[in-house]
Amino acid sequence: MYHQYRAGWLEVISGCMFAGKTEELIRRINVLSYAKMNIIVFKPKIDNRYSDTEIVSHSGAKVPCLVVDRAQEILKKVNIDTEVVAIDEVQFFDKDIVDVCEYLADKGIRVIVAGLDKDFRGEPFGIMPELLTRAEFITKLTAVCTKCGAPATRTQRLVNGKPASFNDSIVLVGAVEHYEPRCRHCHEVVDKPNKF
Ligand SMILES: [Zn+2]
Repeated sequence: MYHQYRAGWLEVISGCMFAGKTEELIRRINVLSYAKMNIIVFKPKIDNRYSDTEIVSHSGAKVPCLVVDRAQEILKKVNIDTEVVAIDEVQFFDKDIVDVCEYLADKGIRVIVAGLDKDFRGEPFGIMPELLTRAEFITKLTAVCTKCGAPATRTQRLVNGKPASFNDSIVLVGAVEHYEPRCRHCHEVVDKPNKF
């Protein structure tokens, strides 16, 4: 016999760009919507790629969302009826997002977040290591390496067609930038310091 269990946990969907993280987040949101669960979807203000009031996958799937500046604003939007909190592009939030996710999960909310686990240099992205450690469930998605076809786990940044430097800033004014999925062996980072 099953006993009634307490809801509330943290799920992380991570991986490189073009791995379908937002697609998977939207799929989970839709499944829970069919079950009539009370869901609020968030994304950080920094992301204006496609839409201001929706999260949109590369394949065009979309769901409405609230755009917030800071992690703590999420707590103000959540109410007593909220059962699920979904967050896209979670890697762009300030470090308070970790405590926010933990607080909500402790309160019985199913928290589902999607985000890049590594930056273009292949280094851990901001608060992602902490979220991945604290999560009950982790889904690590891969893309396909544009060079060799292997499972891609990294995001290659190209500036004016050439691999970006380890020292390049995140925003380069006036440069033509392009990102593509690469495997460990095909991922190129110019000027990356050698440890050994
Ligand atoms: Zn490759």
